[in-house]
Amino acid sequence: MSLLLRNAMLLDVATGVYQEADLRCADGRIAEIGTGLAAPDSVRVLDLAGAPVLPGLIDAHVHVTAATADLGSLASSSPSYIAAHSARIMSGMLDRGFTTVRDASGADYGLCDAQEEGLLRGPRLHFCGRALSQTGGHGDSRGRGTRVHDDHPCCAGLGRVADGVDAVRAAARDELRKGAHHLKVMASGGVASPTDRIDSTQYSMDELRAIVDEAEAANRYVAAHAYTARAINRALEAGIRSIEHGNLLDDESVRLFTEHEAFLVPTLVTYWALKHEGPEHGLSASSHQKVDQVLGAGLAALERAARGGVRVVYGSDLLGGMHRYQNEEFRIRAEVQKPIEVIRSATVTAAQLLHREGEIGVLAAGAQADLVILRGDPLTDIDFLADPANIACVIQGGDLVTDKGL
Ligand code: ZN
Ligand code: ZN
Repeated sequence: MSLLLRNAMLLDVATGVYQEADLRCADGRIAEIGTGLAAPDSVRVLDLAGAPVLPGLIDAHVHVTAATADLGSLASSSPSYIAAHSARIMSGMLDRGFTTVRDASGADYGLCDAQEEGLLRGPRLHFCGRALSQTGGHGDSRGRGTRVHDDHPCCAGLGRVADGVDAVRAAARDELRKGAHHLKVMASGGVASPTDRIDSTQYSMDELRAIVDEAEAANRYVAAHAYTARAINRALEAGIRSIEHGNLLDDESVRLFTEHEAFLVPTLVTYWALKHEGPEHGLSASSHQKVDQVLGAGLAALERAARGGVRVVYGSDLLGGMHRYQNEEFRIRAEVQKPIEVIRSATVTAAQLLHREGEIGVLAAGAQADLVILRGDPLTDIDFLADPANIACVIQGGDLVTDKGL
């Protein structure tokens, strides 16, 4: 079915300028943009009466399998049960305007295929499979008293443990074999892991370089979880292209980001949500105490990176019942960035990171017909994006998938 939008205010995210025009979708793509477009037979026409239209949003750091903030419990849950949660979580993301997401560990080819085949409604999915972690690292969910790993392939955990250059190469190749769009590596301690410290670095340089080497051989790239400048800078030196969180970066990090043309994916909203609601959604007391170490620094890190010319991408990283705050990241970032800059991070810059420039994150003929129709102008009031109640309609691949009315 094809769709024609009349009297739309189309946002060119690169320039930040609106164009008043019609937009026609056909065969899942944007077919044409212009004034007074002819309506072919059988086309459905929507008169937007001047409503703003943005490219479908991209969230580059989600966990669609994070049914709870108690990540350690995922591995002992039934994969079919977790998949049912994923369908619910992905459906919610679509209604919040996110037509593409990059999963930062947990999702696999099964969810990706199910979305592509229309078995579940949700954003287009880029996945990495399991994140690679060293023993005792951020992807090792064992408490101190547990000795054995139970990371058989059917459990729904987020990480896999591999130590040593040969083992990390084999793990990287295995995730690539299963279709990973990118690899994820845990390069520092984290909040939700039971036995590490935020300020630890994880993996040797040789191991990090081996993982990057395997990704590049397959024309893929590596994303790394990292908080401190020490962890971030060594990850960038090893050739990692996407730094996740980055809350404690320094000026040397900014220099390395630009030198290596790497991307920063802050995830500020998750710390805000974990601080307020983490325990009631399953976050352990020891993890809750770690939140403060990264919460305060995150906004300053974003400001420093953005001013230094680092390519910044939208991420949320929410877990369990906190997914409903996905759009709140727009409001938090707007404290230190202009709304158009935050919008670029969730559209055109995110598309660059995903190697899908021109395909998603842009309103142009030939791009995927992924669109968000808003009830007001987010350039003057970010609340029109930060509050999902202000999202009137979502169009994905030319289909009206969410219609709350203008
Ligand atoms: Zn992380
Ligand atoms: Zn994450």
